[in-house]
Amino acid sequence: MSLQAFISRRVVTAEGLRPAAVVAEGERIRAVVPVADVGAGMEVRDFGDAAILPGLVDSHVHINDPGRTEWEGFTSATRAAAAGGYTLLVDMPLNCLPATTTVAALETKRAAARGNCRVDWAAWGGVVEGNQDDIEALAAAGVLGFKCFLIHPGIDGFTMVGERELRLALPHVARTGLPLLVHAELAGPVDAATERLANADWKSYETYLQSRPDEAELLAIRMMLSLCREYGVRLHIVHLSTCQALLELRAARSEVLAVSVETCPHYLHLAAEKIADGATLCKCAPPIRSRENCEALWQGLREGVIDLVASDHSPCPPAMKRLEDGSFRTAWGGISSLSVALAVMWTEAGQRGFTLVDIVRWMAEGPAQLAGCKARKGRIAAGYDADLIVFDPEAEFQVTPERLHYRHPLSPYMGETLRGTVKITYLRGRPVFDNGEFPGEAGGREWRK
Ligand SMILES: [Zn+2]
Repeated sequence: MSLQAFISRRVVTAEGLRPAAVVAEGERIRAVVPVADVGAGMEVRDFGDAAILPGLVDSHVHINDPGRTEWEGFTSATRAAAAGGYTLLVDMPLNCLPATTTVAALETKRAAARGNCRVDWAAWGGVVEGNQDDIEALAAAGVLGFKCFLIHPGIDGFTMVGERELRLALPHVARTGLPLLVHAELAGPVDAATERLANADWKSYETYLQSRPDEAELLAIRMMLSLCREYGVRLHIVHLSTCQALLELRAARSEVLAVSVETCPHYLHLAAEKIADGATLCKCAPPIRSRENCEALWQGLREGVIDLVASDHSPCPPAMKRLEDGSFRTAWGGISSLSVALAVMWTEAGQRGFTLVDIVRWMAEGPAQLAGCKARKGRIAAGYDADLIVFDPEAEFQVTPERLHYRHPLSPYMGETLRGTVKITYLRGRPVFDNGEFPGEAGGREWRK
């Protein structure tokens, strides 16, 4: 089998940043060796000062396929992923039709993905009202874990669950040994706040922020910690937005409760004070909170209370963002960022003294661990898939529609200057993105254990 040597003065491995050659044999990494050890018979690719990182893993993506390909789809989402340095996307079970809550729906998704993926993908299954008997079958069929909502998810067809439904589902989830991912906002506080704000100005971001109080997240996290402790379920909090939960999450981790926490680039880059009236491109749930809250989330990452950063790429057709009337009440809540999430993170992280090793921990190793593929994805080491990105950490670029590559080029980052560009993305040894081009076939596969 042919050998390739990928050389850089800055290869990001678990041991740190160092000059090295990543030797790939076919689809896998055979070894990481000193550059002097590169032998004859290898195809040598020397990237000099550009860094080599493992392909990123995004454990939180809404691909919306099948059924809502006018929102996104495997073709466009995996193209944007390749451009953004991701080599594995784990798809959320909702916003597609059918939702991934049965084995039959999972098979429909597989058919939709076949031949259309530029990077690898995998599926989360859904926990909804009444599907407790599908949970173990979904696990056997290959989902990597489960996702549930404690509040209406913004679209009908994927029901929220409360304590009663969770008590039916959790024994099944526990038997699979897979993690339960939770959208942690309780409906009660959100509904009450929204009611109080019925006559407020919904073009104002402040109104939207008040409608989704910190308390909704805090109470949801408390309930889930308690339930998952009782049933012995691995808990993962998706898109943590409030810093007020960090203390309790830190305490929960120290008692060996299996809980992990994610946040997203938008909570780490945007701040409520700067969101203009009518700027519904910034609407997501839970909401982007204050500048002070944002800094506290960075502290959570620094201390390891937050394990990972996922994009929560959640697109919709442009009309659903209500850009004309600017109403935060009716606009779709979701931010698309697959192709620029790494640059958003690196721009912010670099200013705070973090390194590419931290970025890899948050955006490759952490998500791979959650998804149960940490022995094959998310690291540059022998035996891992040869998923690599060539990244120029110093290059700056402006976010333009041409850079986004997903279906609808909407972004709250449009026009911003960000730091760090993905030059080439390799999926299992083959280039799938190369300086703005997408060479080769769509060779992405489903990741299954
Ligand atoms: Zn989401």
